[in-house]
Amino acid sequence: MEYSVFRKLSGTFDGEKVILQFYRSQRAKESSKPLVIKIYRQECLDFLFGRDYEEFIYSLEFKDATKVYEGVLQKNCDINFYTYEDKDVIKGTTYAYYIGSTLNETVYGPLLIKPRNQQLWLPFEEMTNDIKQLKASYPELVNIKNHGHSVLGREINSITIGNLNHIKLGFVGLIHAGESGPELMLYIIKKLLKEQHTLLKKIGLSFLINANPDQREKQVLGTPWYLRKNANGVDLNRNFNAQFDIVEFGYGYRTDVKTSPTYRGDKPESEPETKALVDFIEYTMPKVVFSFHSLSSICTDSFLLSKYSKDDTLYISKCMKYLEPYTKGFGVKKKPSIYFGTSYGSLPHYLYTKYGIPAFDMELGEVDDKTKHMVIHDQVTSQLMEYYQKKHYQGIREVIKSCIS
Ligand SMILES: [Zn+2]
Repeated sequence: MEYSVFRKLSGTFDGEKVILQFYRSQRAKESSKPLVIKIYRQECLDFLFGRDYEEFIYSLEFKDATKVYEGVLQKNCDINFYTYEDKDVIKGTTYAYYIGSTLNETVYGPLLIKPRNQQLWLPFEEMTNDIKQLKASYPELVNIKNHGHSVLGREINSITIGNLNHIKLGFVGLIHAGESGPELMLYIIKKLLKEQHTLLKKIGLSFLINANPDQREKQVLGTPWYLRKNANGVDLNRNFNAQFDIVEFGYGYRTDVKTSPTYRGDKPESEPETKALVDFIEYTMPKVVFSFHSLSSICTDSFLLSKYSKDDTLYISKCMKYLEPYTKGFGVKKKPSIYFGTSYGSLPHYLYTKYGIPAFDMELGEVDDKTKHMVIHDQVTSQLMEYYQKKHYQGIREVIKSCIS
């Protein structure tokens, strides 16, 4: 067996093309002749988001890949670092890439990348610019506040619109990276700013739309499988200081095991993102918090309360004051669909135990099979996104009206 000619293959999708980057391995002999590189690609039609993870690569066989390039690639600044751009990709298709050369038969890979529609998976920079633009367009109605930084140093900001002295409604997006937040919330923020000046004089709404920016960005840039935890490998929705020490066993995992998708972290609020969320709550002190979850940028009016609140009738009736108008405005169900399901260390459980604030994780809930398939498997269309943007807007508008009446 001969050694690989390359190492450290990585790749991203920038909205238009897949960009592969790799280095020449130190074992590969230098030669005065330029290196002829071969790029192979395979479409992983069988790959399903929400079901398949990185182990999927072991089901692939190189013999199924097709050569898409053979030639000399320019070295970067005379170091043995190469870049290859693949413009011939279809959004929504997962690709496996391999690299080889004419030096030997050994190929390196596969690396899996899924180009996504970035209207449905908004890049961090675009999200940040959108918020800045809103501040510039509505300086009187918009307030941006920093609450800290992510593990990798991205800013975690909130945007408050309307009356700062009467903040009633709080919204949190993307505690879990592969779930929902910015795409739904930015639509709502923009539409309220455009159409509801009178309502916004009486009430303030605070949004922290991206609580897990590092891993979300990885998802946006092409990681095909669902990402949940932050860059330190901690489930932020188990990291709050609310009976943190009690081990949970949800989804068949233990929250005290580091490799578990629901790992709670070393100690409560160990993560900078959790600290930022706590700062957000303390700064805004909303009367209610809606935290968007589900998958693939979409959630519905399906509300999860702390599972330890189910006998607290007073708390539940406090929650219903917000859930009834949300459900009415959403316009699909006759009465709110509520479940008692969130864990120790979760944001809703923290808000329930510490402040008694009505707080909900919003999931997919009951939808038709076609919608369910699209959301669970990352096959959401622009039409489906628009449908749920409008639904949430109508729900929230109804909650605002009920708060000020
Ligand atoms: Zn979630």
